[in-house]
Amino acid sequence: FSPTVAMTANLQPQQEQKDKHPNVILIVADDLGYGDLSCYGAHRLQTPGMDRIANEGIRFTQGFCTAATSTPSRYSVMTGKYPWSNVDAKILPGNAALIIDTQKITFPKLMKQAGYVTGSVGKWHIGLGDGNVDWNKEVSPGAAEIGYDYSFIQAATNDRVPCVFLENGKVVGLDPNDPLYVNYRKNFPGEPTGKNNPELLRMYPSVGHAGSIVNGVPRIGFQKGGKAAQWKDEEMAELFLNKAKQFVNINKEKSFFLYYGLHQPHVPRVPNERFLGKSGMGPRGDVILEADWCVQEFLKELDRLGLTEKTLLILTSDNGPVLDDGYQDQAEELVGSHHPAGPYRGWKCSRYMGGTCIPFILRWPGVVKPGVSDAFVCQMDLLASLASLLGESYSDRTDSQNTLSSFLGLTQKGRSEMVIEGMFDYAFRQDEWVLLPPYPGDNKAYELYNIKKDPGQQNNLADEKPKKVRQMLMRFEQLKRETGKQTNY
Ligand code: CA
Repeated sequence: FSPTVAMTANLQPQQEQKDKHPNVILIVADDLGYGDLSCYGAHRLQTPGMDRIANEGIRFTQGFCTAATSTPSRYSVMTGKYPWSNVDAKILPGNAALIIDTQKITFPKLMKQAGYVTGSVGKWHIGLGDGNVDWNKEVSPGAAEIGYDYSFIQAATNDRVPCVFLENGKVVGLDPNDPLYVNYRKNFPGEPTGKNNPELLRMYPSVGHAGSIVNGVPRIGFQKGGKAAQWKDEEMAELFLNKAKQFVNINKEKSFFLYYGLHQPHVPRVPNERFLGKSGMGPRGDVILEADWCVQEFLKELDRLGLTEKTLLILTSDNGPVLDDGYQDQAEELVGSHHPAGPYRGWKCSRYMGGTCIPFILRWPGVVKPGVSDAFVCQMDLLASLASLLGESYSDRTDSQNTLSSFLGLTQKGRSEMVIEGMFDYAFRQDEWVLLPPYPGDNKAYELYNIKKDPGQQNNLADEKPKKVRQMLMRFEQLKRETGKQTNY
């Protein structure tokens, strides 16, 4: 009975008992860069919690999200589809409707189908409700309608109203005598804002963030009332951690799937005082240390519960890093020799590699051999790959590919091609080549890079290789039709 045979057996779980299915935990940080982790080469920041996953699992050097901003990226994780197939899969305001079709397959629905209990804790940002939400009633459709048995989430981002948590669709801690109202077009009469009341601020905007002030921090959008339910940014990390721990404690005897959305290091970066000043890089560095502590504590809880060996755990990020993202928090001034995007060009919002080549680490003790993989993998493929692992199927068309053997480290081959979405434009990767077609209407030239030889995307080969450009462009155009592109750029 060779190890190879044992590995093959693990790839055919349909022959095994349901209770042999691993728990699945997907931890997705918010705006955490490839170069922000010490296991990915950071020197000025040490991330022992995240590094532990890398030491005990596989660290992917070519792990991708589909888009360089939160909403479209997370849309792909949940649906297995390219975000360009949905015109609404763009950075959403906090009162946007749910953008996921509740009739179609989703990642959590797949897990439910396989007999798992499913939970979502933390960052959400894929819309809630029907577009006309009364925050004082149960908000629906939401997490439950796309397949989560339990949810404890923030509606959008740290910097967008409503600055409250929702547990199973209801705002937590809301006083019925102080109802909550949200508006993204105009302020409520008499309510202070970041723009008009700088004297009330403890954190100042650099761009935007002129809306309501919550916890001394100006936000995007306006909210009124719901004072008792408003969050305290500095308590958010531990709260989400506790909810994540609670979920695994309650469900430790069952097979469970947990989507744990860390809210760091997205702005506003407000660490708990225990992490204040600890990185020497200002709030951005401090909240990364805080996020890492959360991961470390969460891993310890899995150890304590005897779940470590029974759990396939993934840590990744929803898009690349950013320094100044609208608050004066010294992220640029204090970054020094730290490279948040590692060796890559571009940042959050960018179609260059730094926008979408993100940390991606997978651990499944006893099944995946620890190491480093250069396989080209994408978060969007978790849906089809886990379906394969669990012997499940679905009839809806998705863009998710079964790359299970790459995720489990059995092959260094992964995807062969992928569309990469910037904030307003696209890139197309095919094997080691990345093509950046001009944004429609601009006069820019085509860009073509060989990212194996030139990971920093400095040497544009488009003029040298017109045939390659043409061939890739044809395939890119073909993919627009095949995958149902809806966006008009
Ligand atoms: Ca993000």
